[in-house]
Amino acid sequence: MTDGSVYLDHAATTPLDRRVLEAMLPYLQGALAGGNPSSLHGPGAAAREAVEEARASVAGLIGASPQEIVFTSGGTEADNLAVLGLAAADPGKKHVAVSAVEHAAVRGAVEHLESRGYEVTRLGVDTDGRVSPEDLADALRPDTALVAVMWANNEVGTVQRVAELAGRCRERGVPFHADAVQAAGRLPVDVSRVPVSTLAISSHKLYGPQGVGALYVRGGVKLAPILFGGGQEGGFRSGTENVAGLVGFGAAARHAMEEMDDRIRHEEGLRETLASGALRLPGVRLNGHRNERLSNNVHLSVDGVEAESLVLFLDAMGYAVGSGSACASSTAGHKASPVLLAMGRGEDEAFNAVRISVGKDTTREEVEGFLGAFSTAVSRLRELSPLYIH
Ligand code: PLP
Repeated sequence: MTDGSVYLDHAATTPLDRRVLEAMLPYLQGALAGGNPSSLHGPGAAAREAVEEARASVAGLIGASPQEIVFTSGGTEADNLAVLGLAAADPGKKHVAVSAVEHAAVRGAVEHLESRGYEVTRLGVDTDGRVSPEDLADALRPDTALVAVMWANNEVGTVQRVAELAGRCRERGVPFHADAVQAAGRLPVDVSRVPVSTLAISSHKLYGPQGVGALYVRGGVKLAPILFGGGQEGGFRSGTENVAGLVGFGAAARHAMEEMDDRIRHEEGLRETLASGALRLPGVRLNGHRNERLSNNVHLSVDGVEAESLVLFLDAMGYAVGSGSACASSTAGHKASPVLLAMGRGEDEAFNAVRISVGKDTTREEVEGFLGAFSTAVSRLRELSPLYIH
């Protein structure tokens, strides 16, 4: 990171890989820059070629065919396109089922449908944050337009039984959307083996640039566009493509595929060191599934410590981590996120949770340094807390 701090917030975004930047530069400045992929001339053709190469790489990462990839401005747009587009494609159906732990990008789109008269079933989760396939099957109705359950949770890191959940939907002919923004590039995501209808991914979670993403749309799935204009992306997503961004996304996807096993092994090792070190402190608990979790995610509730204070204290000590569930963003206001609440935790636990997420370039020294800082920060903040019983 440029400010010299140790970056342990890879769930929020990942630093741009130098190789990705180098792949992008010729499309920002120089011989290959500036062509519109819709133009017929040479520069246009070069831009089109670059976009199609990126499409093939992104498709390769998730076991899809290139023609099933719709590029978007990121994970949020991909989630919105799936939820709103699947609903609009079957206007007679007015019911939606969605997990109670979705990212705001899905949650917000579903709330929009609700405001337009859709009935919404919110599928509860167990204490680890997982949806039961039986509950999902029970929620399906003849008028269910779509189901959305995320592949892996952005806060607590829990990985869902997506193959089983999607399978239940396929048996009943109901479209299934998976938000794989946290999962793609961090664990194997293969749409040739998991019967999702649509699947969202985002470049900036896998060391690519921000503001670029994709929606996988399985061949034959009915989807209506949400943006109208020039008919790019097979008519699913009008707008001139972000050529340099897509070149970066493609390069990032290629590296993620080639390096996936090594990255997982590296991150899991650090995750376990972090978790076992942090759990040695009294009053610290791990949230999310113990094993079925993202390789890079450690999500902790820390008794007697307010998450925001802990994040700022650690920041001052040179460590950047995420606040776990309260104030998920600076724009969300002081509100508990629904994720820990859905897992049966109290509001207080949502306000004392922190998320530490490592990356492919995080070192063991950084993790060990962090554990020392974490212990100091927790002790210091507890000394100051009028509520913590020492
Ligand atoms: N879905 C999940 C699970 C996420 O973690 C995020 C980003 O944090 C998004 C969707 C939104 O993606 P983007 O930031 O590319 O819009």
